[in-house]
Amino acid sequence: MKIASGFTAIVNGKLIDGTGRAAVPDAAVHIRDGRITYAGPAREAPPVEPASARIDAQGGTIMPGLVESHFHPTYFNVAALEDLDIKYPVEYVTLLAAANARLALECGYTSARSGGCLFNVDVWLKKAIENDITPGPRLAASGREICGAGGMMDWNPDFRKIGMEGLILLINGPDEARTAVRKLVKDGVEWVKTYPTGDAAAPDTNDHHTLCMTFEEMHAVVATAHNHRMKVTGHCRANAGIKNALRAGYDTIEHGTFMDTEALDLLLERNVPCVPALYFEIASLELGKQYGMSQRVLDGHTETLEGGAESARMILKAGGRLGLGGDFGFAWNPHGDYARELTCFVRYVGIDPLTVLMCATKTGAEILGRDHELGTLFPGKLADVLVVDGDVLKDISILEDRKRFIAVMQGGVIKAGRLKPR
Ligand SMILES: [Zn+2]
Repeated sequence: MKIASGFTAIVNGKLIDGTGRAAVPDAAVHIRDGRITYAGPAREAPPVEPASARIDAQGGTIMPGLVESHFHPTYFNVAALEDLDIKYPVEYVTLLAAANARLALECGYTSARSGGCLFNVDVWLKKAIENDITPGPRLAASGREICGAGGMMDWNPDFRKIGMEGLILLINGPDEARTAVRKLVKDGVEWVKTYPTGDAAAPDTNDHHTLCMTFEEMHAVVATAHNHRMKVTGHCRANAGIKNALRAGYDTIEHGTFMDTEALDLLLERNVPCVPALYFEIASLELGKQYGMSQRVLDGHTETLEGGAESARMILKAGGRLGLGGDFGFAWNPHGDYARELTCFVRYVGIDPLTVLMCATKTGAEILGRDHELGTLFPGKLADVLVVDGDVLKDISILEDRKRFIAVMQGGVIKAGRLKPR
């Protein structure tokens, strides 16, 4: 991805550096050749270089670009599980993914980790973004997702004669788990997404307290993936599934819904980040009826929302790490609504805005393994910066509105927002 050349000064805004520390009023951020050279109080800033560009934050907020830590660019308007595997061919899914990536960038998400995709699209989407062919967040790519046969993602009865080849590698036993990971090695993915547990969406056979993989299968996935320097994550709701994942050596946990103190200890032992994705549950409860969700499914989402919020509070209180991302791409939780996850964490979970923003920037960059160059605003880092019209600490929901971005920058280049050159 090309970075800017020359000097830019961002002035007249409140600085949130992404570390969780208090904001700096009347701050300045200086950028030279795509990297930050200064971020701090305006009165202490070094003189600006001649022939520099100047961005006026208009008394609003200067902050790091957001990181979507559970991004599904290939999911689009999914209203039933079946929509994921048989709705569109790979050609159309690829175009949808590019459109969703552009939208995420316009929404202030300068980086993202994919949480599983159709047809290995994300690996190639990442290449297209890195080569400036299509705009989007800097991506950490995952690929097809691994699930035990008969588990949550194996929903097509055999009489339909539909495999899940586009989305899921179905496995039976550790040998097949290894085979699946080895396929993904050749696909070029960085993250292996698995399904250790079920979900409220599948109440009959794979609900949120059901396991969909054995410990042996999960351990085989981790050993194979780590050998090839890939990372592993998984959809973990049931308490036993969370513990299996942590004991098997997972690098992150998705959802972490039903934690207890033993699971928390395991999580803290290796400081494993968890990505709760809770706004999805709120959206399901608000709009699920109109998409035909049964009362049992809705009850499951209520339990998931309450359990997930409790676990998230517990993790932060104990000094653990949360990444924010939201499973956007479902009909009731569409692409573009990403920042609703942040609002949900402030208003529903009850976390202070500075901590929520730290989770959505610094911790996201750590999950990507790129915190040395992304996620916070310090000299030397890439200038992935948002300039926002308004005080996001007073009202976090400002970030939900694309029109409030004055500039969305990647490497000092304005990619979206009101100042984007047209
Ligand atoms: Zn997901």
